[in-house]
Amino acid sequence: MTVYNFSAGPAVLPRPVLERAQSELLDYRGSGMSVMELSHRSSLFEEIIQDAEALLRELMAIPDNYRVLFLQGGASLQFSMVPLNLAKNKKALYINTGSWSKKAIQAAEAVATVEVIASSEDKHFTYIPEITVDNIDQTATYLHITTNNTIEGTAFQTIPDAGKVPIIADMSSNILANEYRVEDFGMIYAGAQKNIGPAGLTVVIIREDLLNEEAVFAPMLDYRLQADNGSLYNTPPTYSIYIAKLVFEWLKELGGVAAITAQDRQKAALLYQAIEASNLFSSPVDKNSRSLTNIPFITGDKELDRQFNEAAEAAGFKNLKGHRSVGGMRASLYNAFPIEGVQALVDFMKSFEAEVK
Ligand code: PMP
Repeated sequence: MTVYNFSAGPAVLPRPVLERAQSELLDYRGSGMSVMELSHRSSLFEEIIQDAEALLRELMAIPDNYRVLFLQGGASLQFSMVPLNLAKNKKALYINTGSWSKKAIQAAEAVATVEVIASSEDKHFTYIPEITVDNIDQTATYLHITTNNTIEGTAFQTIPDAGKVPIIADMSSNILANEYRVEDFGMIYAGAQKNIGPAGLTVVIIREDLLNEEAVFAPMLDYRLQADNGSLYNTPPTYSIYIAKLVFEWLKELGGVAAITAQDRQKAALLYQAIEASNLFSSPVDKNSRSLTNIPFITGDKELDRQFNEAAEAAGFKNLKGHRSVGGMRASLYNAFPIEGVQALVDFMKSFEAEVK
């Protein structure tokens, strides 16, 4: 049985990347060791981390005045690191577009003076609120947004104009799946386990002038210290960085972010069209706010949702169950997810609908 993994993260990785990792597992480039066994101070690992950074810079066209950090602690640790480094006892603005935004806001409230300038909580986070530059206090330290809301299936279609206030984006679930201009952000962060590689690695891209001047009380949480040490202040997640490097190479070979975004649009369109055409399934998300990478759908009947999920799981469509806070189904179609899997799901949805009608 062919298995399609619709997990929201950790998620499907490109097959060629896994095969390459397998072929290099026991002996990395004649070293007689696996990458897992290499010292993070060895020249072989130095080359891996430098290549990973260079490839990411190329893929995202990251300007020279931005630093790239490979950290740990997931996007969740960034929820605290961002205000600790940039807004301690200062004002920070947030847009609340879902469960992850909310967690970012809660973490910041312990450190900064937080103002939530827009929220879609009134409609269960099914849309992206509009904001204009007039809504943004120009004295604030930053504006935090979640570009793609993994659980709710919404995404900012354009990046808001925040005037001179730097935008900090949690891009965990759509980094490298959209042709963003890094210049539009003061900082971008993302947990790796969706479009980048295995869990355990968090990528931070930060404009140099935003690096904190004052040391943060805990060295590991200090962006400047991490930047000054080239992400090697302590032992980094070496194997995750190695796999990320292979994923970046794979993506570059495919044609980069523009090429993969075109594929992602095709995959998403196939599923959204099937949902639109169906008399059973519907999308709970506002049409103008839809995500390309996380696509929730429902039948409107919890028992039917349960039956669908059970049948889908048995047929090889894995991890389609929606997040427990939303219910229904959710297909996560990250970069490595094959279009054949979307077509197979659409066919399966049609036959399920025909059976229950
Ligand atoms: N932000 C977003 C948008 C996410 O999707 C997730 C994880 N699914 C997180 C933050 C939390 O990430 P982590 O588990 O890496 O802390």
